[in-house]
Amino acid sequence: MSTIKDSELKPWGFIRQKDGDHFVVRVKTNVGCVSSQQMARLSEIASKYGRGDIYLTTRLNIAIPWVARENLDEVRRAVEEVGLVVGGTGSTVRPVVACVGTICDHGMADTLGLGKMLDERFAGRKLPAKLKIGITGCPNDCAKIELNDIGFMGKCTASGEVAGTSEKCFAAYLGGMFGRAHRVGVPVGELLSADEAADLVEKVIEYLEKNARPGERLGALIERVGMEEVLRGIGLST
Ligand code: SF4
Repeated sequence: MSTIKDSELKPWGFIRQKDGDHFVVRVKTNVGCVSSQQMARLSEIASKYGRGDIYLTTRLNIAIPWVARENLDEVRRAVEEVGLVVGGTGSTVRPVVACVGTICDHGMADTLGLGKMLDERFAGRKLPAKLKIGITGCPNDCAKIELNDIGFMGKCTASGEVAGTSEKCFAAYLGGMFGRAHRVGVPVGELLSADEAADLVEKVIEYLEKNARPGERLGALIERVGMEEVLRGIGLST
């Protein structure tokens, strides 16, 4: 690690701070879920190697600032010892974000169940550009899924109960992004079960691997070739 340039450390989850001397260590969570033991250990790591501060990123990951470059390897090892990993950046499938629809009074779908399944299966997969997945449990859209490359929104159930992941209760949205380029994703296809949602993510990833230019996100690819062409490519009719 000592031979790697500061600017090349970002994809590893080490982000150089403004002062040029310290790094923020980005710790990936599984859809924002961390045990109390893990949180206690992260707190110790932040006190030992940083300045005792921890903050949360907008995508439910944990950041430990003020880590000196010579301690990065040690912090990474300490994080791994508690079953977490450093990373979640770069041109990859980013850590999945989900609201707490599974337990929320308004939730219509098992957002955390789908989120953990998608995160375990896809997070970290390399792509021509980053790919963000968001899941929300009802139209209140606390997870802002229309601003993700792929979004899923809980949309049923007639009983008023939270649907299990086997029920067809996730509406899919494609092509959103937020940042310097801003685009709102649009709903596509029929309501999906969790397995069908995972199949759709797989198809989108395969389509991006074959068709996206370096640095081109799904929304930009849709702008370039048209939504009809993308839907055809992933097996959805228009
Ligand atoms: S989007 Fe709906 S289900 Fe999810 S946290 Fe917000 S109100 Fe609850």
